[in-house]
Amino acid sequence: MKKIFITEPYLSPLEEFIPYLEKIWENKRLTNNGPFHEEFEKNLAQYLGVEYISLFANGTLALVTALQALRISGEVITTPYTFVATAHSLLWNNIKPVFADIEPDTYNIDPRKIEEAITPQTTAILPVHIYGYPCNIEAIQDIADNYGLKVIYDAAHTFGVKHQNQSLCSFGDLSVLSFHATKVFNTFEGGAIICPDLKTKQRIDYLKNFGIADETTVVAPGINGKMNELQAACGVLQLKYIDNQIKKRGLVDSFYREHLDCVRGITCLPLPTGVMYNYSYFPILIEPDYYLERDQLYEKLKANNIFTRRYFYPLVSEYPMYRGLDSASKNNLEFAYKKSRKILCLPIFPSISKEVLATIVSLIKET
Ligand SMILES: *Cc1c(COP(=O)(O)O)cnc(C)c1O
Repeated sequence: MKKIFITEPYLSPLEEFIPYLEKIWENKRLTNNGPFHEEFEKNLAQYLGVEYISLFANGTLALVTALQALRISGEVITTPYTFVATAHSLLWNNIKPVFADIEPDTYNIDPRKIEEAITPQTTAILPVHIYGYPCNIEAIQDIADNYGLKVIYDAAHTFGVKHQNQSLCSFGDLSVLSFHATKVFNTFEGGAIICPDLKTKQRIDYLKNFGIADETTVVAPGINGKMNELQAACGVLQLKYIDNQIKKRGLVDSFYREHLDCVRGITCLPLPTGVMYNYSYFPILIEPDYYLERDQLYEKLKANNIFTRRYFYPLVSEYPMYRGLDSASKNNLEFAYKKSRKILCLPIFPSISKEVLATIVSLIKET
């Protein structure tokens, strides 16, 4: 069998991309707010049901810029159970990450642990809607309001997720999306910040373009975080297919649940309730009563050309640039540690075949 990875990026039909390329060659606008950039920004805002979006070259530059846009400094409370870019965006801004443990049922940062971690230096909270499962938004907002903190959501996993009939990326002060090739929706590389008002969008747009406000005015030491026309054209095109792609992901999700829920020692993470989900990941827990350890199952599948991922292991707090922090200690992060040693994310993507799914399931079931 050919190699199967946790995801295979979605690409719309090539012949449909050609006219978009011809347009770019015709009008010779390659970047800096070209016509596709404008169109994608508009279409995306409409699709997500939000007012203001600023597009980026990738999600990491968007995270770094989001922190700058709100002038965050000092300490920021975040989760260790995420992709490294979340915490790296803090170090790039000279901000000290303070890790708080996750809730054992949602895998998201625990609001009670956030409150315990607040110091006079705390200026913001940087939670992640992990796997696209909503954080405890109300509790986090209450804490932010009580202590005068900003909330920036790393919403890299949430594309298309609706919570209380509202886009999951419309909560908090800012939300940051990623359109990396491995995500539910991709523009090869790409990202965005969702913001609540035009003034904030204006500042973000300056910051992603060197801080340039006009020909003779530079208002901040901004970065080059701009999305180019190829990425934006790709976004306009792929957006037409996203609903269908999410639907197909949902079928893969159901297949796994139907066939794995009865396997002793394997637990499928329950779907979030009250949510229109995007099926971005399919995480399972390998419990002690399964006949293999988590890493043994990972190796067994790999030997059969099935490349799963241990998202998120190791924890961000275990990497050398973070492990010296007080908040990185194992005692402080009990559930994050436990879960990271049991979790395995199975391949899920719209074009995965029934045969491959059946193979994965039988490899997990056979003893
Ligand atoms: C993918 C990802 C990012 C980074 O996005 P890029 O577009 O790859 O830079 C940040 N945070 C999380 C949780 C992610 O999964």
